[in-house]
Amino acid sequence: MSVHLDKAAASRRTILVTGGAGFIGSHLCERLLERGDIVWCLDNNSTGSLDNVGAIMASKRFRLIDRDIIQPLPLHVDEIYNLACPASPAHYQADPIRTTRTCVLGALNVLDLAHRCGARVLQASTSEIYGEPEVHPQRETYWGHVNPIGARACYDEGKRCAESLFFDYHRSRGVAIRIARIFNTYGPRMQADDGRIVSNFIVQALRDRPLTVYGDGRQTRSFCYVRDMVDALIRLMDAPDDLTGPMNLGNPHEVPVIYLADRIIAMTGASASIVFKPLPPDDPSRRRPDIGCARRALGWEPVVSLEEGLAATVDYFRAVLQDKGRATAGHDGGRSDGVCGTIGRADARLERPSALHPVEPRAAGGAGARR
Ligand code: UDP
Repeated sequence: MSVHLDKAAASRRTILVTGGAGFIGSHLCERLLERGDIVWCLDNNSTGSLDNVGAIMASKRFRLIDRDIIQPLPLHVDEIYNLACPASPAHYQADPIRTTRTCVLGALNVLDLAHRCGARVLQASTSEIYGEPEVHPQRETYWGHVNPIGARACYDEGKRCAESLFFDYHRSRGVAIRIARIFNTYGPRMQADDGRIVSNFIVQALRDRPLTVYGDGRQTRSFCYVRDMVDALIRLMDAPDDLTGPMNLGNPHEVPVIYLADRIIAMTGASASIVFKPLPPDDPSRRRPDIGCARRALGWEPVVSLEEGLAATVDYFRAVLQDKGRATAGHDGGRSDGVCGTIGRADARLERPSALHPVEPRAAGGAGARR
């Protein structure tokens, strides 16, 4: 028995998840722990939250590192998932220079770490790299149509630069890379005030407030439930060595924004109405992933329907809103005038980058001790 356990312990991988206290990151940490890995979650709590990892904090195989990805990473790990970056338009535009820094310096730091450790590294890229797409649905071979000086450029171009750095490290230094282009993802642990469509609409409906539809609501998105996304990320990481990506990950079921508003009103039983607001600048008019590549190479496709995923997300937000401590949640992401402006709460968090208490490492030494 003990020999068996020792073998299991010896074969365990140490996996770094940057942005691990965020929405997708925390679900990923949970899944990696479930399968027996050692998980180091690095987060500066700018848009992530300790609440997201509350359930796994007690695990002896989980370790929280309170650090910004723009600092060098004196660690030793076997695999890296780089998810550290604000992902909602309202959040990443709140401090655009910081967003670019996070994308570019973060990529450099995880790539240097991967190179030093011989670790495999997966980059959470985005459908935003396609910009306002002239090709529909979007394939990985499409180079995109991004406004390089627009309000979204900090994120779009930051992520594009990260992709190019990943390939340069792969070609010139032999780093084993994976690039996942993540399309709109939703589910429990989205922030109630992050300004994204699913969280905004559900919170607005549950509070009987008008749902804020930007533009005429005919723009489309394709929504992937977080469990499906995490499944895809792990499969991509674990795939054979020559599979670098980039690979689209998302749900190809495309719906207009106005349809989502109607469905959420119906599902919540809300008496809320719809109010139309101006479209934010450079808001893509349509988006749908071609996931042929993921289907073929990973044997993956989403299995959670929009109805099923929305129902679980509505339940989550209902519980959040009932929680007295979060009773103030649920404004429209600071875009009530229809422009991507600043948001009080997110700005405040950016000023105070870490509300996380430094967590003493459970393994021997500090963040740099295993160099
Ligand atoms: N949107 C909306 N109302 C909201 C939030 C978003 O109509 O309260 C629209 C937004 O203009 C965009 C789509 O929903 O067309 C998706 O926006 P989100 O911020 O979730 O992510 P994006 O796909 O733009 O990165």
